[in-house]
Amino acid sequence: MTGSLAALLAGTAARRPGHRALIRGSAHLTYGRLWERARRYAAVLHASGVRPGDAVALVLADDEQFPLVYFGVQAAGAVAVPLNGTASVSEIAHVLTDADVRFLVCASSLRARAGAAAEGLGTRVSTVAELERAAAHTRPEDAFVARRGDDPAVVFYTSGTTGAPKGVVLTQRNILRNVTTMAVTPYAFRSDDVLLGGLPLAHGFGQICSMLTAFEAGITLVMMERFSGKEALALAAEHRCTVFMGVPTMYLKLLDAVADGGPVPRFDRVYSGGSPLPVPTFHDVRRVFQCPVYEGYGMTETSTSLTYNHPGVPCRPGTVGVPIDDGVTVGVARPNADSVELLPVGEVGEIVVRGETVMAGYLGRPDLTAEVIRDGWFHTGDLGTLDADGYLTVVGRKKELILRGGYNVYPREVEEVLAEHPAVAHVAVVGVPHPVLGEEVWAVVVPTRSQEATCDLAEEIVDWGRQRLSRHKCPRHVEFARTLPLGASGKVLKRELVSTLGPVAA
Ligand code: ATP
Ligand code: MG
Repeated sequence: MTGSLAALLAGTAARRPGHRALIRGSAHLTYGRLWERARRYAAVLHASGVRPGDAVALVLADDEQFPLVYFGVQAAGAVAVPLNGTASVSEIAHVLTDADVRFLVCASSLRARAGAAAEGLGTRVSTVAELERAAAHTRPEDAFVARRGDDPAVVFYTSGTTGAPKGVVLTQRNILRNVTTMAVTPYAFRSDDVLLGGLPLAHGFGQICSMLTAFEAGITLVMMERFSGKEALALAAEHRCTVFMGVPTMYLKLLDAVADGGPVPRFDRVYSGGSPLPVPTFHDVRRVFQCPVYEGYGMTETSTSLTYNHPGVPCRPGTVGVPIDDGVTVGVARPNADSVELLPVGEVGEIVVRGETVMAGYLGRPDLTAEVIRDGWFHTGDLGTLDADGYLTVVGRKKELILRGGYNVYPREVEEVLAEHPAVAHVAVVGVPHPVLGEEVWAVVVPTRSQEATCDLAEEIVDWGRQRLSRHKCPRHVEFARTLPLGASGKVLKRELVSTLGPVAA
């Protein structure tokens, strides 16, 4: 294993200097060029006063500037704090304060927003164009700053699906362990693979699973600034992409784009993660793309992937596969117990994890860190079950569990049933406050495109649930929506949905 993220890119640049690392539009960048320019950026950062270990924020679009600046920061020995290019002034300001950021690099188009956020905080702001101009007068430094395994590499902010995003400190070792395993086992990259991008690079899935595993393997990443089904199909055809990874909502968009007459991509294999992939969607993707579909599971706090279905093991749809390597131990523990008590096969409990990919901690929050890392196990906040062969099934988040009149209802189980109804394109099941039952089960449904949202259809979907689920799990009400609210990493924001639905009368 290489010793740092900068050394990872240096290694690939030495091995495949002329191979394309990135393609964006009609332009491309080879590994040799990427590493050379990144080191020039590192020289500029050093000249600007950035010291090893300093936090440098990235407020960039998902284009080639991202890896250039990111590896510039890594080569300088600094810690990258990536923010989504869509972040608001107050979101940026929160991160700058929380992570004590001294230096911020932004795209020119985001200068005004980044500048407003940095005002009064003492953070220096520089655009990539300014960095580039200064870089012309530097030489790529011969040696980049060496880092140790337990030095922080990146501070990620979680998706904020269940509350305010938390700053997750991942060390060089955390990320490298994940990347070196993923590139070989689940992704099984071959040297001529071409990976279609589209995941946001500020988020773990896009940055670690997509960008870094591609660079570790030395394959080509085709960049897409903002995911659209139509553009993804066009890029996949133009660049003969062989692999794709995305969140389930991206697969829905790809299927729509194919239904609209777009060219069917010729992927060898595709990977889904980030949120549950409903089994009907799994089968649709398999049928339309005619290739294996592998679902995996992970989170920012575990340097992303923990488990995966992958080419080396039999695929089990509806499960998230097996641990990615023997350096990761996944267990299911009795929820809310004082100490970790692992449950036998088949029982539902909280998913807990041990291994080298578990974060160093939440930035500046030893209290929160101690809450989730107990007895040497990281508590994921997700509920799941393991089968006899070690396959994990995620039944949902603890925070999204619906408590209806004393019964537990797992939204995922209800969503799977409703997703099979032919008029349902996308569905989210939530608990809505109820004065007697505590919570009532509601479903928010996006109908398929040819389908009109009528009262009769709502009744029909309620009936569909009633015939297939026990009484307490049946949604009592179906609300139609044109789309579901999604966070920046493409997940359904259920707490936002619930706030628009309001309480139910007794
Ligand atoms: P926050 O922690 O801020 O509320 P988040 O948990 O969505 O946001 P991430 O780290 O991006 O932030 O997401 C990890 C979570 O996504 C997991 O804990 C799990 O709940 C969910 N998840 C990831 N992959 C899957 C999957 N294949 N099936 C079901 N859930 C998944
Ligand atoms: Mg989380």
